[in-house]
Formats: sequence, C-alpha cells, structure tokens
Amino acid sequence: MNLIHNIRITMICFLFVLNFSTVSSQTKLKIVDKTVNFGMRTTQLRNIDVIIIHSVYNASGGDIYDIDLIIRQFSRYHVSSHYVIGREGTIYQLVKEKNVSFHAGQSSLPDGRMGANTCSIGIELMDSVGTAPTELQIRSLTALVKDIKTRYPIKYVLRHSDIAPGRKTDPWNMDWNDFLWRIGDKNTLINFKIDSLQKQ
Ligand SMILES: [Zn+2]
Repeated sequence: MNLIHNIRITMICFLFVLNFSTVSSQTKLKIVDKTVNFGMRTTQLRNIDVIIIHSVYNASGGDIYDIDLIIRQFSRYHVSSHYVIGREGTIYQLVKEKNVSFHAGQSSLPDGRMGANTCSIGIELMDSVGTAPTELQIRSLTALVKDIKTRYPIKYVLRHSDIAPGRKTDPWNMDWNDFLWRIGDKNTLINFKIDSLQKQ
C-alpha cells in the first residue's frame, strides 16, 4: 500500500513539474520587434490554421546570418515572414500574426486549398544549404510553435517544400520528425503520411 501511495505521489509531482515547465517555457518566449511594412498585407480578420517553416540566409554580401541584412534582402524581393529565428535562438517578429505575410508564394495545402499565405503563419530559420539548424533554434522554434498552437486551431505544421514541391526545398537539413515529436504533433504526422501515400 505504502509503495503504491508513494508511486502515486511521485507521479503527481512529476506531472506537476512537467506541466509547470511547459507553461514557464511559453512565458519565457522573448520576441525582438523588427516590424516591416513591405512583403505583407494588413487584415482585420483572417482564419489562421497553418504554420509553414522555412530557411533563410543573406545571400547579398556580408554576414549571412545578420537579421538586418536578411530584412533588407526581403525588401528587395517584396517578401517577408512573420518570424525569423537567429542561430542563437533569438526570435524576431517582422509581421503581426493577424496580418498576411508573403512567405509561401505559389503553394497548395494537403486539403486542396491554394495559396498558403492567407491562412498561415510563416517562420524562417536562419540556415544555409550546407548547414543544419542549431539546437537553440529548434528549441525556440518548438516553443514558438507550441505558443501559436495555444492561440489558433492549427491544422497543419508544414515545410515550405511540402506546399511548393519542385519549387522549394527548405527548410534545409532539418530533422523534421524530431521537430514534430517535440511539438507533439501526431495529427500533422498522420495527416502528412496519409497525404504522401495518396500522392504515390
Ligand atoms: Zn521558404
């Protein structure tokens, strides 16, 4: 009896700690404001149910992972993203979630909807073709995605390459299944597998 009682108490404590650590990781989310007025469209009301993950680097000379140079590059192409995550895990916000950011381009979602920009939040990881995202970036991305999921009924968390195959290959060198496991996104995993099987 005593042993069972002790195990029960230990489990309750464990669950409490687990729950508490999840909550505190979300409240610790620090976001650096880098609001832009290009590559986006203001909206009063839009339904958000998709998150798209990308890679980005500055290919125009200078530090390839400099946030201001990346933003300058976005401005030249009239594109943007809601968030960019630096190599050290810093989260920069360029566009408010309620507004549309031009990050996905021509794209189609697994449920047949065309053009992901109107219903999605775009997140870019600073990364180049030959390197992988850092552990700090993946941790920030996980915390950010979990936080977004508490605010919107997210149906899909997808890679840019999932919605624009043949045109886009990012996010590069990312362990996607590990990331889906971290965000606890079983539905996305299942939906994606079903969709991939249907395409074959
Ligand atoms: Zn992309």
